Amino acid sequence: MKIESGDLVMPGDFLAVSEQFLPGQGAYDDEGFIKSTTSGNVYINIKSKEIEVISKSGGPVLLKKGDIIFGQIKDLRGQRALVDIQIKKGCSREFALPYKAAIHISQVTKGYLDRLNEAFRIGDIIEAEIIKVMGDNVDLTTIEDNCGVIKAMCTRCRNYMKPSKRNELYCERCNHKEKRKISSNYVE
Ligand SMILES: [Zn+2]
Repeated sequence: MKIESGDLVMPGDFLAVSEQFLPGQGAYDDEGFIKSTTSGNVYINIKSKEIEVISKSGGPVLLKKGDIIFGQIKDLRGQRALVDIQIKKGCSREFALPYKAAIHISQVTKGYLDRLNEAFRIGDIIEAEIIKVMGDNVDLTTIEDNCGVIKAMCTRCRNYMKPSKRNELYCERCNHKEKRKISSNYVE
């Protein structure tokens, strides 16, 4: 059986032969066989040729499909909103990888979305669900009601805005209205 990144292993489990990989954090060399010292998720670092086991109870976090994250909209590029993932919901630990995340325009909302800036603006704080992880590349969705923008500033005056109606935020300071994909967890 071939071990892959993300696989769950127990202490003493076989990971690889030492001709293939070096033992990294959470792994050791047992006479040519790389084994796990802990229970956790396997992480294979292709560049450094190291195989590691990220402990479940502590240490850095590997993201997986279904995880809910909080992040900030970094840029809107064509059909994709680029997201800086800040933290996994309910977990304060650091990430094992420097994740790069994006939301495709088709994954923003249930209905049709003409342009990304009708849902997000740079700097918005969002809650999103992970739909795919490929190494350090993460695809997100905000289709569910709990996902979307949870905090946003007015693009005119930088005041925090309040939801006024479905998919619309309102700035009390300058009366400006802006469209967003708003989460049911929006912070007022
Ligand atoms: Zn304003």
